[in-house]
Amino acid sequence: MLSIRDLTVAFGGLKALDGVSLSIAAGEITGLIGPNGSGKSTLVNTVSGQLPVRGGRVHLEREDVTGRRPDLIVRSGLARTYQIPRVPPALTVEEVLSVPLLYAGRERHRLEGLDNAAAIAAFCGLGPLFRRRCGDLSVTDLRRLEIARALACAPKLLLLDEAMAGLSHEDSVDVMALIRDVHARGISIVIIEHLMRVITTLCHRVVVLNNGRLLAEGAPAAVLADGAVREAYLGK
Ligand code: ADP
Ligand code: MG
Repeated sequence: MLSIRDLTVAFGGLKALDGVSLSIAAGEITGLIGPNGSGKSTLVNTVSGQLPVRGGRVHLEREDVTGRRPDLIVRSGLARTYQIPRVPPALTVEEVLSVPLLYAGRERHRLEGLDNAAAIAAFCGLGPLFRRRCGDLSVTDLRRLEIARALACAPKLLLLDEAMAGLSHEDSVDVMALIRDVHARGISIVIIEHLMRVITTLCHRVVVLNNGRLLAEGAPAAVLADGAVREAYLGK
């Protein structure tokens, strides 16, 4: 689904990603983990076209999307959510979802039954809040809206940057169920997540970054038991 080869991204002298190569398989939920500052958000921002690439290539399915405009990458089938949800507080849920739907246009057929704002809102548990302003939504509902907005782009691959940050245990369990429902619709998913129970429960595979480099990858249990991963990530 996604192939990253030797990706390097720098902020001035700091290499936030330093020659990272990894692949994301179609149909899977892949966990992307690593300590704070290891380059996870930078990877999402780069793959989605929002940061310039210094070196390396990114392929979405067989298509080379390296350095392509973010809106064109969305059209090719990749959508992402943001670690810090940013929605105009005066817009309603309906309005926020309508913008990407207008833009996705001909690609809508990719998600049968999820081709209009009301259906997407209902799917994401936002049905009763459809006409409410975003400024009135709770933290959990804003997290749901992030996912809903990405679904409105009709993605094949969805990148979730800390989709459960700031949620209570109960609310995070609800959002995990939503992520499963999204996956069941045939969408491949990458989740960046600090909660290990989320990674072990949801993910088929895990990729670990440390200091902008790939540290480990594989099945969740094996990766989380890996000594180097525990040292870097868990501080043990
Ligand atoms: P993570 O998401 O894994 O916590 P980030 O990708 O946000 O890490 O950051 C990786 C590194 O790049 C960090 O050292 C961070 O300070 C730096 N960084 C991220 N974004 C910027 C930016 N816009 N300008 C300068 N440095 C940045
Ligand atoms: Mg981050």
